[in-house]
Amino acid sequence: SKVLVTGASGFIAIWIVKYLLQNGFSVRGTVRSIEKGKHLQELFKEYRSQFEYIVVGDMAVDGAFDEAVKGVDVIEHTASPFHFHAEDPDDIIKPAIQGTTNILESALNYGLVHNVLKRSFKTNIHKKSTSLKRVVVLASTACIIEPILEGQKVFSEKDWNRFSLKEIEEKGRGATAAHKYRASKTLAEKAAWNFMKINADKISWDLVTIQPPFVWGPPLQAISSLNSLNTSLVDFYNTITGKMEASPAHIGNWVDVRDVAEAHVKVLTTEEAGGERFIICACEVLRHHLAPFSWQDVLDAVHSGPSEEIFSTVPRGVPGSGKTHFIMF
Ligand code: NDP
Repeated sequence: SKVLVTGASGFIAIWIVKYLLQNGFSVRGTVRSIEKGKHLQELFKEYRSQFEYIVVGDMAVDGAFDEAVKGVDVIEHTASPFHFHAEDPDDIIKPAIQGTTNILESALNYGLVHNVLKRSFKTNIHKKSTSLKRVVVLASTACIIEPILEGQKVFSEKDWNRFSLKEIEEKGRGATAAHKYRASKTLAEKAAWNFMKINADKISWDLVTIQPPFVWGPPLQAISSLNSLNTSLVDFYNTITGKMEASPAHIGNWVDVRDVAEAHVKVLTTEEAGGERFIICACEVLRHHLAPFSWQDVLDAVHSGPSEEIFSTVPRGVPGSGKTHFIMF
């Protein structure tokens, strides 16, 4: 099967591409520049016959993905702006929503093998015949968790983050950057489910969303300077290098980037995953350490490992002070 991965040069997406290739899938990755495509080609040179890239400039432009979707069996949409420096909420919300609706729109119009109409005997509805079976959207627990209720409520896949949307409505540019990002993810995910609903009579594929919290792990993307480190690794890096003071207060939940990548492979081989949202999260019950975590816990974890010289420069903070702030997810 051929999988289209959007934003293939991103921190999480590269791991997804790697796991897909290792599991025998062919992958077409969308990237914003030839340089990024070449980096991927080099990284995956042992899978030369299975990997290709296509340059898609601004995904917010109508029809941006029209070429990219042709002839693929699955789409994994990961591209979305992830940063905390949007001033106008629309700077981050618009590309997130438009990127999501554009990929679905292109899938509907161009992701076809045979551009013909087929009558489904079951539903007596005309559907376009397509090789596309599933669209997977990389969403976030930001679409689920309402920060104001953290610690008071156990969140599940049934929940939606209405709080960040309210913050944007009420405060606009004055809302925190985190709420602007959270709103962008929530509205983009809502747009995807809504697209499926309003086009149900034309669509023969299904939708799955994957919702991770903070994602950490080894970066495979090209990093030209520390300023270009992806957002979820910046605070991690700053904490272990002592640039940021390690707070013992609860920060959130996390998951290993390789587990997120594995989830993106598993949903392709699990038919009943269709129509579901999946929280993918490190979990105390499974004896993952640091789930959930404070930055002090991160320091404690570093120093609980083998006492290698490389770790001697990592600050110690106040060992053990983080645990008391744990809130179960
Ligand atoms: P990255 O910033 O590394 O990846 C983001 C990807 O989206 C990059 O490929 C980037 O392209 C692309 N992109 C961003 N804006 C645009 C745009 N306007 N047009 C086209 N492409 C664009 O972040 P992550 O890998 O961490 O994030 C990937 C996805 O996972 C995002 O949807 C994010 O919201 C979600 N997520 C991330 C979490 C985390 O902790 N890392 C947690 C939960 C969800 P380019 O490489 O050219 O910049």
